Amino acid sequence: MTTATNRVAIITGAARGIGAATAQRLAADGMAVAVLDLDEPGAKAVAEQIVTAGGRALGVAVDVSDPEAVQAAVDRVAAELGAPTVLVNNAGVTRDNLLFKMTEVDWDTVMGVHLRGAFLMTRAVQKHMVEAKWGRVVSLSSTSALGNRGQLNYSTAKAGLQGFTKTLAIELGKFGVTANAIAPGFIATEMTRATADRLGVPFEDFITASAKQIPVGRVGQPEDIAHLVSFLVSEGAGFISGQVVYAAGGPKA
Ligand code: NAP
Repeated sequence: MTTATNRVAIITGAARGIGAATAQRLAADGMAVAVLDLDEPGAKAVAEQIVTAGGRALGVAVDVSDPEAVQAAVDRVAAELGAPTVLVNNAGVTRDNLLFKMTEVDWDTVMGVHLRGAFLMTRAVQKHMVEAKWGRVVSLSSTSALGNRGQLNYSTAKAGLQGFTKTLAIELGKFGVTANAIAPGFIATEMTRATADRLGVPFEDFITASAKQIPVGRVGQPEDIAHLVSFLVSEGAGFISGQVVYAAGGPKA
């Protein structure tokens, strides 16, 4: 039986936050991991931590919205770590504003990273998955897909990733490839810290107030999402495809 030790995983936006925790977790599961991010020193630092802990990892600088950079990064991962058959589309940005103040750049930037980025990465990696007749794609959606004031661009992109996931599942299923989306609620990362800054609220107060609205009584941590990714990319999860799993400490959707 093929085990996780034979698998090569690519995680985008993995220099910090949910992506970094996911890279650490999949490495602990036995996978070789490619840590992709715009932030090259950050990506290399996460990869070095994994290697120091005894894992196999490579930090690669890439803008996921740039087709040539994406292809070069995937080629490099295949050459240095082996054919990637696990892809976590995690890179993300926010450019929050109310509709009447949202610029074309705010809109295009968010679509470029979340939607174009996931498309380009998945298109570049699918060849390796189809050749291996096995693959796992997990894309990060959000509870914002259900609608969120001030996030017209982001909620549109995150809803788009749900349709992306369902169509991937239909097209790639016959090649042994599953595609699923994770829709997190509030996770304590630099992204939510930036939201608190924008609202002029100290991050700790923002966390305390948010936790009161969450049934399990706390906000999420990056490791909560990494745990779910680990399950969805595991060997045994091959009959779960085209799903959106809300990980928000309570019911959503
Ligand atoms: P984060 O801490 O802001 O990390 C996102 C990472 O993505 C950063 O390292 C960032 O690099 C990188 N990135 C941005 N644009 C990129 C690009 N064009 N190419 C490659 N890398 C790029 O965010 P997070 O909270 O961990 O979120 C991870 C994912 O989960 C995102 O898709 C986010 O939308 C989603 N999510 C988060 C939450 C939450 O509450 N935190 C909830 C729901 C969904 P730079 O720093 O260099 O820009």
